[in-house]
Amino acid sequence: MADRLAGVPLAPYTTLRTGGPARAFTQARTQGELVAIVAEADREREPVLVLGGGSNLVVSDDGFDGLVVRVATRGVEVTARKSAADDGWVRVTVQAGEDWDALVARCVAEGWSGVECLSGIPGLVGSTPIQNVGAYGQDVSQTVAAVRVYDRRTGEVGDLAAAACGFAYRHSAFKHDPGRHMVLAVTYALERSPLSGPVAYKELAARLGVEIGARVPLADAREAVLELRRGKGMVLDPDDPDARSAGSFFTNPVLGPEEAAALALRAPGHPRWDMPDGTVKIPAAWLIENAGFPRGYERGRARISTKHTLALTNPTGEAGAAELLALAREVRDGVHEKFGVWLVNEPVLVGLSL
Ligand SMILES: Cc1cc2nc3c(=O)[nH]c(=O)nc-3n(C[C@H](O)[C@H](O)[C@H](O)COP(=O)(O)OP(=O)(O)OC[C@H]3O[C@@H](n4cnc5c(N)ncnc54)[C@H](O)[C@@H]3O)c2cc1C
Repeated sequence: MADRLAGVPLAPYTTLRTGGPARAFTQARTQGELVAIVAEADREREPVLVLGGGSNLVVSDDGFDGLVVRVATRGVEVTARKSAADDGWVRVTVQAGEDWDALVARCVAEGWSGVECLSGIPGLVGSTPIQNVGAYGQDVSQTVAAVRVYDRRTGEVGDLAAAACGFAYRHSAFKHDPGRHMVLAVTYALERSPLSGPVAYKELAARLGVEIGARVPLADAREAVLELRRGKGMVLDPDDPDARSAGSFFTNPVLGPEEAAALALRAPGHPRWDMPDGTVKIPAAWLIENAGFPRGYERGRARISTKHTLALTNPTGEAGAAELLALAREVRDGVHEKFGVWLVNEPVLVGLSL
């Protein structure tokens, strides 16, 4: 079994650079180790925090009073190769500890289409089903075929088909019932094609100079997405203080018809995406800006990104989680006061609440 270390500070393991010490800290390099470590902690009733790349976490300044398990499992297996029976699809099974963007880069290089617009998203593969990672018109629910999990309630390892994962916008059954499932590996079904999936996001289509629905070479899609993301400080970069964040701090609110009508009265002509199910998605960035919080707005040592109002940042690395949360509360309350809409945090808060 891997070593357990005491009192390891967690801030260096999160992209927002917050978090006090873990009571105990260990790493799992194989699926077997991961399951054994978590099973033993559960038997001992020791609280567990599963740590991937730490890019969607806000950890309390008091740290974590339990065991932090860092997922360090590796391996990519291609389960369908070109053959007479090949139906044009490839299944790629990836261990939870693999770096997500490295996988996307490989898919683009191999001619496996379906995740290219998810280029540049930090973190590990095992976290992608948790919040159904998405950007620029794609999310992983479109390509996840199965998720291998350890069910901490039943003590069993098994495969969940995509339909059992409850995928929705930045949500899943894993997020709904946090802590129940450890993701061990994810299988993606990808089209064998040199072309991207149909471009579904206006800003990306404009950058590529194509119409919505067009397909472009995979490498062009990846490069355009990376350029757009860099412009917003949404690619990890040690030289960019705006990237010292947990990505978007708030999800885009999805309103029912009555709430949408109420917002339209308060903010006639506001931007909106009408969803097929009759709900209306509102860009949280627009709400934040128009509630009086411009780019670069500061509270103590915490700051709204100077490139994009959705990201709250720790530009010097010296702000604590409490300062970040104070800024988040100010923004959330200001948006509610102006527009009557409650913003909800996207990152997972550990030992904190908004
Ligand atoms: C600059 C930046 C840009 C971002 N852009 C986007 C974006 O465009 N779209 C988007 O969707 N997200 C984005 N994010 C958020 C984040 O990158 C993703 O949510 C990512 O999938 C988190 O992966 P991680 O490995 O860092 O997870 P962590 O932050 O380590 O963990 C997140 C949660 O998942 C749990 N978890 C992690 N691994 C496992 C596992 N194997 N089994 C069970 N639970 C697990 C953790 O306990 C925690 O609750 C961005 C973040 C940053 C910093």
